[in-house]
Amino acid sequence: MIFKNKDNIKKDCFAYNGKTCKALDNTYCAMGKCKFYKTKEQAKKDEDKVFERLVTLSYKDQTHYVRKYGLRKKMKEKGLIE
Ligand code: SF4
Repeated sequence: MIFKNKDNIKKDCFAYNGKTCKALDNTYCAMGKCKFYKTKEQAKKDEDKVFERLVTLSYKDQTHYVRKYGLRKKMKEKGLIE
């Protein structure tokens, strides 16, 4: 059995909301194991890459991914769609 240790929580992780992990079903970093850790800055860079790539796709493919992953709000925020 793996016990949680609050000292292990990655408080600078993009997914940590001050209480728990908002991305996963458990705060795995408290147990000393998480493969998804990244800082807010890294997460922002990764997100920017996703949208850079997305706008290079055909209209049909863009529409598919925007619908599949619910990206419409983010696209609007970034000024990519009206
Ligand atoms: S993604 Fe991993 S490292 Fe980040 S808060 Fe969640 S469990 Fe912790």
